[in-house]
Amino acid sequence: MDIELVTIGTELLLGFTIDTNGAEIARSLAAHGVRVVRRASIADRAEDIRDAVESALARTGAVITTGGLGPTRDDITKRVVADIFGWPLEFDDTVWEALLARFARVGRAPVASNRSQAEVPRGATVLPNQWGTAPGLWLEGARGLVVMLPGVPHEMRNLLAHEVVPRMNGRGGGTVIASRSVRTSGIAESTLAERLGDIEDTVAPLTLAYLPGVEGVDLRLTAWNLPATESASRLEAGVTELRTRAGQFVYGEGSDDLAALVVQRAREAGVRIAVAESCTGGLVGARLTAIPGSSDVFTGGVITYSDALKTLLLGVDPGVLASAGAVSEATAKAMAEGARERLGADLAVSITGVAGPGGGSEAKPVGTVWLAIAGADAAATAVQMNFGGDRGDVRARSAQAALLLLLRRIAAHQG
Ligand code: AMP
Ligand code: MG
Repeated sequence: MDIELVTIGTELLLGFTIDTNGAEIARSLAAHGVRVVRRASIADRAEDIRDAVESALARTGAVITTGGLGPTRDDITKRVVADIFGWPLEFDDTVWEALLARFARVGRAPVASNRSQAEVPRGATVLPNQWGTAPGLWLEGARGLVVMLPGVPHEMRNLLAHEVVPRMNGRGGGTVIASRSVRTSGIAESTLAERLGDIEDTVAPLTLAYLPGVEGVDLRLTAWNLPATESASRLEAGVTELRTRAGQFVYGEGSDDLAALVVQRAREAGVRIAVAESCTGGLVGARLTAIPGSSDVFTGGVITYSDALKTLLLGVDPGVLASAGAVSEATAKAMAEGARERLGADLAVSITGVAGPGGGSEAKPVGTVWLAIAGADAAATAVQMNFGGDRGDVRARSAQAALLLLLRRIAAHQG
């Protein structure tokens, strides 16, 4: 079954409110084999609501709306949709009683406008709303199916789960739409695509999406409208194929966090780690300490933002800072070595870079970041990165790159 979503509210168009309802409904319905084929956000204007709902009905025959079910003047969804169906609004005593009971529970008295919330299009099914004042409405007739849900996210979510999804069950034809993703880091999207080759043909009928972000490129496989068991087995085989082809660049699945993997691997290898951060200002330390139990392996870190602290806390030679600069291979290596020696660690990673928006030069443009890693067994090694994006992106990408360096070095240590 295909369906369209129409999220109603001028605040969505002004950009003040993000349409989380649309995303939540799409995710939830997919798990039941109902595919959202289009989402539209529109203002609280009768013509716009009518136009959006009528065209969705003409195209797809099924629509879920959210918003515009409240008692105020901008809440007109119900009126417009009832009109499309040609079903008159009638005062519903049961809905009114439930509303009065709810008001009594919270010690409030209804006002005149609340009576409009008890009006129901004749022929509609009321979806009782225990979580708020406006019930959901299910209209199914010659024009198709329209389900109206309130805009308040937790009310929408509860009605969806308790009233809508159970009624949708079966319409998905006993199939599901399911996804799994593999997380990669340290490889550009286009390079990764080269590496994966004809993967789309191999995993068909699964579809593959490349989802690049500051932590790397996630590869999402989706199985469309297959029985649950077939969907699961095809996704399993697809994930295995992706992992094989993407190889060393894969660090996890789903919402796996690289920091958690670093902590786990360090623990297995019996390696203590430390960090020396400049432009990331503690992001790597924050990510590592966000993992419960990281104290087993993470000794700590320093934020050496100024040249003076790089020298004072990490022993970076002032001559190196003067000649090579704070953002340089020599400084990054000296930071990592200093951190390893002074922070009681077996491995230390350092980060020094130009996060921007200012501070760039021709030789070291914004996004230039040097990372180094030092271990007891060999001299420190360094790598230069040239990250894109704004200050936040450069910092987040730098932290992820530092964690990746740690992971690889721990693996080498073990291997
Ligand atoms: P309404 O049901 O139109 O009175 O919406 C009530 C509140 O729910 C609005 O003030 C928004 O904060 C929120 N809301 C409405 N639509 C959405 C949406 N699509 N996604 C997230 N929040 C929403
Ligand atoms: Mg509204």
